[in-house]
Amino acid sequence: MTTTIATTFKDFGLAPALVQAVTDLKFETPTPVQTKVIPALLKGTRDLVALAQTGTGKTAAFGLPLLHLTDPAANVPQALVLCPTRELCLQITRDLTSFAKHLRGIRILAIYGGSPIDPQLRALHRGVHIIVATPGRLNDVLRRKRADLSGVQRVVLDEADEMMSMGFEEDLAAILTETPETSRTLLFSATMPRAVATIANKYMDDPEEILVGHRNSGSDTVRHECYVVHAPDRYAALRRILDCLPSIYGIVFCRTRIETQEVAAHLEADGYSAEALHGDLNQQQRDRVMHAFRVRQRQLLVATDVASRGLDVTDLTHVINYNLPDDPDLYTHRSGRTGRAGKEGVSIVLANSREAYRLRSLEAVVRKPFVHKKVPTGREVCEAQLQVLLDRVKGLGADEKRLAPYWPTIEASLSSLTREELMRCLVARDFDRFLSDYDKAPDLNAGAPERSSRREGREGRDGRGESNRRERFERGAPRAPSSQGAVTRLQVNLGRRNGMTPPVLMSILNRATPGPMLRMGRIEIMEHASVIEVFAGDTSDLAQRLNQQSYDGRQIEAKPVGRPGRGGQPRPSRRERES
Ligand code: ADP
Ligand code: MG
Repeated sequence: MTTTIATTFKDFGLAPALVQAVTDLKFETPTPVQTKVIPALLKGTRDLVALAQTGTGKTAAFGLPLLHLTDPAANVPQALVLCPTRELCLQITRDLTSFAKHLRGIRILAIYGGSPIDPQLRALHRGVHIIVATPGRLNDVLRRKRADLSGVQRVVLDEADEMMSMGFEEDLAAILTETPETSRTLLFSATMPRAVATIANKYMDDPEEILVGHRNSGSDTVRHECYVVHAPDRYAALRRILDCLPSIYGIVFCRTRIETQEVAAHLEADGYSAEALHGDLNQQQRDRVMHAFRVRQRQLLVATDVASRGLDVTDLTHVINYNLPDDPDLYTHRSGRTGRAGKEGVSIVLANSREAYRLRSLEAVVRKPFVHKKVPTGREVCEAQLQVLLDRVKGLGADEKRLAPYWPTIEASLSSLTREELMRCLVARDFDRFLSDYDKAPDLNAGAPERSSRREGREGRDGRGESNRRERFERGAPRAPSSQGAVTRLQVNLGRRNGMTPPVLMSILNRATPGPMLRMGRIEIMEHASVIEVFAGDTSDLAQRLNQQSYDGRQIEAKPVGRPGRGGQPRPSRRERES
């Protein structure tokens, strides 16, 4: 059954307060899953199984009817939403709360692991109408007999396949037996593995099946692009692609935690706004990384599939598969994170020539051909960056008043230049160095003609070009010792964005080190981080001391990093030089 008539949220017969909230959120038309699930929940009586991918708008699909049907006068939990992760739990709670903002007196509570249970128990005790929970913690609460689910009329199992693969089967079973026989169950899943079918059979009563599109309905708006490169060129190719996408906001998916850390560290060192999210972070660190990404302090999140679960960030422009996932379903999950709510998104795959057959199986899964793209040449990257630079120059609002006192000096010095000369100087200031970065940059496409040029790229000039960095990364080996052998580079998690300047950094360092003055070398201030050179003899516990400091309310995190390029001077990252 396809709905061709344009429905609006009003047409569903939802409470005006809910329609208003949805309007506030700028939802104009319901998504396909909303068009099917909302009427079914409002009017029907049967249990529901809905196959829908992430990013299709499920939260509003179940959330609006749940809120519509909740009676604030009855002081018992009436609806229960179960989901796989703490992040998802918080996200759903936030979403429901925003849907309910014009309703009176509805209390929604998140119950999840990884934080103290007592406040949650107290909130339960005060009375709630809707519980959003992860199964492990809720079952814990039930075993302590601290929640009464006997008044629950509707149960939502969100991302049931994820809950199964995370081993919540027993917890789910225990929870579902505590809900009344008569309650209605709505199960959402992106896929239908056997474990999910089993739950559906055991705990649901002749459920109605709702299929949203054949696949991810979001995928209609996702373009799948692939680049075939030799494995050792993966990182260099990633950089070139990123260099052509200056306003990207996306996730770079890696297969392992270590790969995640490596890619993120190199991106950061190369001046990109990127950070890693992986399973080794503690909850506080995870929260911080996710927050930074959510509020767009970072443009790129480098993550494993598991770590990124439940991270609901909308408006991703791109998803990058740095390596292909083993499971094609994971690819659907990844790519389903972009192209949401009708917006165009791009899923980029970096593959090597031996993975060609896997690309074909992925094409079958997403039911779309991949667009085969060529890794941009150095020239193309330069063109893209030049455009950014020119746009920025044009966008600079020169403040006449503030410049006025200096105008005579400026005029005296520059008025002899012609218009062309002036333009050339202006562009050269930032662009020349960029040009040299990509000078003689090799063709990175697998199947490209013999790349003798790569050798030149590495050994020509001063050996500090793109290839050199790529090689460092691929070897993953200890970095070349510095020529003086005595200088250490410390990276600090504060950059220009945090108001960092060389004098501020030096004063922080001096504060951290009582006693004789430190001998410092160069200081690089980047957008999100800074690097400072310190003579090795002075650094034994410097990182540790710095870590006890904070600046502008932010805990300082310092760590030693390798040297960029070989030979003498450390070289500021490209982004640094651009600005
Ligand atoms: P899912 O649970 O299926 O992964 P969400 O419910 O989290 O998807 O919705 C994905 C994003 O789309 C959210 O940012 C949500 O605010 C937005 N969204 C949902 N429904 C609509 C709609 N009808 N119009 C516009 N945006 C929507
Ligand atoms: Mg969801």
